[in-house]
Amino acid sequence: RAKQGRQAMLFYSSDMNQRSLARIKLTTDLHHALARDEFELHYQPQVNAQTGQICGAEALIRWRHPQRGLVPPGEFIPFAEESGLIVQIGIWVFNAACQQMAQWRHQGLGLERLAINLSPRQFGRHLVDELLAVVNQHQLPASCIELEITETLLMKADEDVTATLNALHQAGFSLALDDFGTGYSNLGYLHAFPLDYLKIDQSFVRGLPDNHSNAAIVRAIIGIALNLELQLIAEGVENEAEAQFLASLDCHQLQGYYLAKPMPAADFVNLLQPSERS
Ligand code: C2E
Ligand code: CA
Ligand code: CA
Ligand code: CA
Repeated sequence: RAKQGRQAMLFYSSDMNQRSLARIKLTTDLHHALARDEFELHYQPQVNAQTGQICGAEALIRWRHPQRGLVPPGEFIPFAEESGLIVQIGIWVFNAACQQMAQWRHQGLGLERLAINLSPRQFGRHLVDELLAVVNQHQLPASCIELEITETLLMKADEDVTATLNALHQAGFSLALDDFGTGYSNLGYLHAFPLDYLKIDQSFVRGLPDNHSNAAIVRAIIGIALNLELQLIAEGVENEAEAQFLASLDCHQLQGYYLAKPMPAADFVNLLQPSERS
């Protein structure tokens, strides 16, 4: 049988072989990474567009690879989603982020919310119970956790997904729609879900205000969000011109390299202030 298999492989192009081998290797490596605790979270601040004060942060995963160094999520999250391993990675992320948030709160540091990304594949039957068990274990109110979901999830949301979103919201979690505007979806679905935040995708922030089509798109998105009473977060803000334009349009929060890049918890903690006691 082994011989037959080897012969059959000759029919594939070697390029295809290599790619599927690389894929299998990556999947096993990701299993090992989970088992060996090689993932870590970096944190990027989200600031009030008017005052510049930090009001939240987004937790972003990285892979501390023993040979390759720090691997960005773009190089492994798509594979983790494809293979389904994102479900286990996702719960690792949620737990690690909550643990960090609980520690900051114990230290009396003023961070109102921590945003955590959820893949559509995590929306199974047990999601709400699992997430609640984790926040309870860390004695965190669900209200300090913002869950970032994607347009793809909403576009193909069935009754179960809708019920899960409602239950998460009911439990106190905030819901943010990530990468808004990239899904080519109609806007009709927006009010059908219990959303709290819209995150304007960084492709629309680029070149503001001189990029006229982006300026028009951003104005339109902000108009819709304000009408639906959603809070707005602009992503990927890289310079002062973009920041000023967004602030002038009453975008609530800004996130991007202009404010700060994602950084390890040990660095992020230096940006936080002890919260005032009254
Ligand atoms: P995202 O959720 O849209 O996260 C924002 C990405 O934009 C991050 O890339 C961040 O580092 C980057 N970014 C922030 N400010 C700027 C800026 O001013 N300019 C530019 N050019 N980029 C900026 P990162 O950390 O490489 O993450 C890439 C994607 O990987 C994320 O996009 C998200 O889709 C996914 N991801 C990251 N962590 C997780 C996770 O824990 N779970 C899941 N399911 N996905 C994750
Ligand atoms: Ca995100
Ligand atoms: Ca995003
Ligand atoms: Ca993105």
